Amino acid sequence: MDKDLSYGRPRVEYDAAGISHNCALLSRLCAAYEVEIAAVTKATGGNPDIAHLMVEAGIPCLADARLENIRRLRKAGCQAPVMLLRSPSEGEMAEAVRLADIFLLSQIDAIRSLAGQCRRLDKIAEIIVMVDLGDLREGVTPDLLPNLIDQILQIDGVKIVGLGTNLACHIGLLPDQGNMDQFVELAVAVEAQIGRSLQFISAGNSSALSMLQQGDLPPKVNHLRLGESLLLGRETAYGQPIEGARQDVFSLVCQVIELRTKPLSEKVGRGPNAMGKLVRLTDAGLRKLAVLNLGAVDTEISCLKAEDRRVKVIGYSSDHLIVDVTGLADLHAGGEVRFSPNYHALATAMSSPYLDQIARSSAWNSGSVFHEECI
Ligand SMILES: *Cc1c(COP(=O)(O)O)cnc(C)c1O
Repeated sequence: MDKDLSYGRPRVEYDAAGISHNCALLSRLCAAYEVEIAAVTKATGGNPDIAHLMVEAGIPCLADARLENIRRLRKAGCQAPVMLLRSPSEGEMAEAVRLADIFLLSQIDAIRSLAGQCRRLDKIAEIIVMVDLGDLREGVTPDLLPNLIDQILQIDGVKIVGLGTNLACHIGLLPDQGNMDQFVELAVAVEAQIGRSLQFISAGNSSALSMLQQGDLPPKVNHLRLGESLLLGRETAYGQPIEGARQDVFSLVCQVIELRTKPLSEKVGRGPNAMGKLVRLTDAGLRKLAVLNLGAVDTEISCLKAEDRRVKVIGYSSDHLIVDVTGLADLHAGGEVRFSPNYHALATAMSSPYLDQIARSSAWNSGSVFHEECI
């Protein structure tokens, strides 16, 4: 890493070529089943460099849950259509209409309010109506869908462009033949009710890829919203790597701010630590301990895996991470330790104001440091 590019703060490093590769691979895979994708940017905090790579790889539409992230994209000049995955609150409607193009909604009050803002701005908001097939998050229950569609049809300023569902996010209900068949039946019924075909039959997220790859998604499904699979190369129903995709695109890199040999003993009387947790010490005796400049405030720190297996996480507090590096002879104070984040650690790290976001490869905008003011 070129030292000049670093501000000395911990950073999220991403491999631009790896992102392009995963996006192109999944675009092709889905296209083979006539499924179009939206690239979900919420785990990148709306990093515009990464969004640019997604669009360049041929993904026609972006999606995010947060207006702050979409604002960041727009400020950087991103003009791709964006889906807003989470309903705006009442006070966010006007800004939502300005920033996003397609809205995933299922509550009639929100749809009315959004439509009101659209009429003021002389716009039409495109809506994907969300139906809940049992994951108990957003979405109308199937029995009330026809009534909701009827109500939306009477509102000026919005247009129904799709039916969507989201699984495996809340209680972990996985997509299967039963709920996917039910989903397309509902889509057929909505098309009959509105008298035209829907542009988006949007059957889910990265948890649908396993079914897609086995050819088990009903052919009428034509859209998925993918985040984790594009960024971390994994489907999420079973956590399996996607063949040919890269799982090593992101690293969290932090610095050794102190390195000492200290005695570890289980016998010392102890209570809960600063995080309210009891720390288990598995090794005893003299160990080489590194104190790192990364803590629980920066990321979901319990979801990090050291890239070097000889580094063992012992514990952490708000601003420090303590690792046993007894097996590493050549690590010094000032040296760096690298971790591989899971999706949640990535999402929190990428929205932290304390971490830099730096591209690792020589592709587009290489070495650019996103060191923006808070948004
Ligand atoms: C986060 C989210 C996605 C993307 O999920 P992944 O598991 O990252 O693919 C898709 N749809 C909705 C509604 C979401 O909130």
